[in-house]
Amino acid sequence: MKKLPLHWRIMIGMVLGVVFGAVFTQFEGGDEIISDWIKPFGIIFINTLKLIAMPLILGSLIKGVSDLKDISKLSLMGGKTIGIYLLTTILAVSIGLFMVNTIRPGDSIADSTRMDLIASYESDAAEKYEVAQKQKEAGPLQALIDLVPDNIFKATTENGNMLQVIFFALFFGIGLILITPDKAKPVKEFFDAFNEVILKLIDLIMLTAPYGVFALLATLIVESPSFDLFKALGMYAITLLIGLLLMIGLYTMFLRLYVKMEPTKFIKGISPAQLLAFSTSSSAATLPVTMERVEEHLGVDEEVASFVLPIGATINMDGTSLYQAVAAVFIAQAFGMDLSLGTQLGIILTATLASIGAAAVPGAGMVMLVIVLGQAGIPEAGLALIFAIDRPLDMCRTVVNVTGDASVSMIVAKSLGKLKKDTLRKKMG
Ligand code: ASP
Repeated sequence: MKKLPLHWRIMIGMVLGVVFGAVFTQFEGGDEIISDWIKPFGIIFINTLKLIAMPLILGSLIKGVSDLKDISKLSLMGGKTIGIYLLTTILAVSIGLFMVNTIRPGDSIADSTRMDLIASYESDAAEKYEVAQKQKEAGPLQALIDLVPDNIFKATTENGNMLQVIFFALFFGIGLILITPDKAKPVKEFFDAFNEVILKLIDLIMLTAPYGVFALLATLIVESPSFDLFKALGMYAITLLIGLLLMIGLYTMFLRLYVKMEPTKFIKGISPAQLLAFSTSSSAATLPVTMERVEEHLGVDEEVASFVLPIGATINMDGTSLYQAVAAVFIAQAFGMDLSLGTQLGIILTATLASIGAAAVPGAGMVMLVIVLGQAGIPEAGLALIFAIDRPLDMCRTVVNVTGDASVSMIVAKSLGKLKKDTLRKKMG
């Protein structure tokens, strides 16, 4: 029998996980069984993905940069990448603002619901608030300082320091370009082979993905809040989801017009990464798979993918920025505030910066939302309002974050003539 393509296997794993979780919440002790016996496998799965992220960035970026042969190519690619990332983020925030101002989901929140939600989630929200406060206290150039590690080994030991590792890899790669080719050869060959090994490990990890997402979703179901909350915040969730869908529609349109790739082909190629983004809520954990899919199935040259994607995972979060715009205005509406045009334009700026600053891990977008709220003068207590349904929405915005990175990598590759024509290699599906 022909083996089912990977995205179908992952999808089946997800559905079974949800069903399994739902069944187990029905009887006493079921939650514990999931926590004790199923949850650990989800954690192990995410750990294997994270485990591979740092070596992957280091190896592939060094190799990618050193393949460029001269520095001007690097700055051309860098300029294009950052420019397009910024544009897509601003577009995303604008779509978010448009949606939330049109649908006005905050108007339908009753005062009593608002008070209830704030009362029940105040302490959880306070935790996020504290983390955000620390970020806010830093000086204006702190982000720049944070970019340059003082010790590369230390930087690689923390998964949160992705930008520092990217900085080192770029720096090292530039050094490799500048030395004589015969000296550079063994180092390049080493990283070449190193990369191959890492890609093979990703293949192996992906074989376990259907089981991993099964465990993740079953756990999520038993740990999720009651359905009533979803109903209360339903309009907000729907507004956001429509915005996110629109964004994915736009990516596929850009790809169709500029790269000449059919939407179905793109979605088929990238879907395992999307499903993983959904199950893990982390673009960083999904990065290895995004890279593998884009290179092996969508034809982006390794040189481009290894540069554009790790940077995108950390700074390009279109789903997150769209969410921040929707959430900020929703909270304002729920509190009966009317935001001026000036304030809304301010949100475009702060949501863009806040999404760049958000780490590629679950819940990070919500932490940075505090900054957007603060700038716009919206009560930060409103965070408690949306807390209950943040996780499922985080899953959805992470899908958009990852899809955005993949799309931009294709656009950059096309503009540099680095997109292979016939790509859908018969591999894992
Ligand atoms: N979970 C998102 C990501 O990793 C970030 C966020 O919380 O919006 O891409």
